[in-house]
Amino acid sequence: MALNSVTVKVPAKVNLQLSVGPRESDGYHNLVTVFQAVSIFDEVTLTKSHEGSGVTIAVTGDQTHGVPEDGSNLAVKAAQLIAEKFDFSADVHIEVKKSIPVAGGMAGGSADAAATLVGMDALFKLEATREELLALGSELGSDVPFLILGGTAIGTGRGDQLTAALSRGTYHWVFALSTVGLSTPSVYSECDRMRAEREIAAPKVSDALMQALLAANPEAVGDSLVNDLQSAATSLRPALTLILEVGRDYGALGAIVSGSGPTVAFLVADEEAGLDLAVALTASGVVGSVARATGPVPGARVI
Ligand code: ATP
Repeated sequence: MALNSVTVKVPAKVNLQLSVGPRESDGYHNLVTVFQAVSIFDEVTLTKSHEGSGVTIAVTGDQTHGVPEDGSNLAVKAAQLIAEKFDFSADVHIEVKKSIPVAGGMAGGSADAAATLVGMDALFKLEATREELLALGSELGSDVPFLILGGTAIGTGRGDQLTAALSRGTYHWVFALSTVGLSTPSVYSECDRMRAEREIAAPKVSDALMQALLAANPEAVGDSLVNDLQSAATSLRPALTLILEVGRDYGALGAIVSGSGPTVAFLVADEEAGLDLAVALTASGVVGSVARATGPVPGARVI
């Protein structure tokens, strides 16, 4: 029997390292980043619809605010792109069940695009290679390829040229979520503004972080977390500084703004420390809501 519907589960990401090179003439920045996929998942269900109906979308779940339900949704763009490349008419309904915070620096939109590429491949039996899916992903956005791959990976270029990183152990995270997102382009502009007078070196992978991941040493990973966008994010959203401090005071091994923020990520020793920190952050009153997760987890998978 022909498959009529598939569901793909896709994780969020946190950047353990996000090193940003100078602004290039095309406006982009060369990055060196280390991604870890974490266990906060969106579920994307694709269902074939009648010929000529095109791509339609509905967004459900507990994180729907600000997510477009039209052609600007990255999942719709992903369905259209893969259909164009494989030369067929995309008549499909997409349901995105969102749990990944929106505009939080956790790549929720990119995750849905990654899930849609993987789901379209399965639903229409395209038998695309992993390389083809990753290439389509990078046309949609620089974080999309990583959400297809998952695990732990080093990203260079715009973050889309990936190499799997050697990482042992499971890492426990607490995320402090904001109700109001930060736009990624505005954080990069603020970063450029703050660096205007400085010479910026080409970014490179942190040896300390790589060794810490290999050694499954959360304390050392916590000490090695680095995000060049953090000062720009805290400049635009000063309250983030206090949230970072509260987490450190309550024993987080590492505290960092996730990607372009405003989500703040805390690395903790184990599940119990995560529960304690989540309670402390909530009680402190400086954080709207918290989420706990572990990583690394696999990338977009049909379930
Ligand atoms: P990144 O970490 O990749 O910079 P982010 O996590 O900060 O991304 P997203 O959640 O991907 O941000 O959302 C950024 C904007 O993209 C949203 O405000 C929304 O307007 C738009 N968007 C398009 N498609 C989606 C989607 N499927 N889910 C969430 N947002 C989407």
